[in-house]
Amino acid sequence: MNKQIRQTIFERFKAHTPNPTTELQYENPFELLIAVILSAQATDKGVNKATAKLYPVANTPEAIVALGEEGLKHYIKTIGLFNSKAANIIKTCELLIRDHQSKVPQERAALELLPGVGRKTANVILNTVFRLPTMAVDTHIYRVANRTKIAPGKNVLEVEKRLLRHIPKEFLLDAHHWLILHGRYTCTARSPRCGSCIIEDLCEFRDKNLD
Ligand code: SF4
Repeated sequence: MNKQIRQTIFERFKAHTPNPTTELQYENPFELLIAVILSAQATDKGVNKATAKLYPVANTPEAIVALGEEGLKHYIKTIGLFNSKAANIIKTCELLIRDHQSKVPQERAALELLPGVGRKTANVILNTVFRLPTMAVDTHIYRVANRTKIAPGKNVLEVEKRLLRHIPKEFLLDAHHWLILHGRYTCTARSPRCGSCIIEDLCEFRDKNLD
């Protein structure tokens, strides 16, 4: 795929959704961090349902530690892997209190030291909260990047690096959200909606679903 086509793709995304953002609901960086940890292998909708009850009761590291692991599980038990997520969140809150004045750190290395936070979660926080040009490659972005040929790669890290290299700078801050939304609602894993896709004429996928 050439530069001009990538440029046009992101111009279309921008025209269609000028201010894309995460579908996770949050009021501050800490709430987003916890929501992203909870969202691993879970839907944003399911996470939002749980956090809508949790955050009015506890939305600071101190308040979540005070709930304790069992108390926290009560609020997140509808979410997959809730046992390990509860343990990780309590440990993460303890570290935030101990090492970061109860704030979400802005450095990748510090974020990745938090239990339950890997490269992808760190990228989401760095991009969504701190507006840094990072690219969290989830299953949707991996699929869209490969199908369209915007940034094909054999693994998530390869796709992440190619996206960062190839996406025009002016679109880099919002690209993560555009690609996720596109993968979630249009370029779906099964039966992509190529017939109503706004970049169909630019996408280089060979097996388009144009029925
Ligand atoms: S044309 Fe189809 S495969 Fe290509 S981006 Fe659109 S939905 Fe995905």
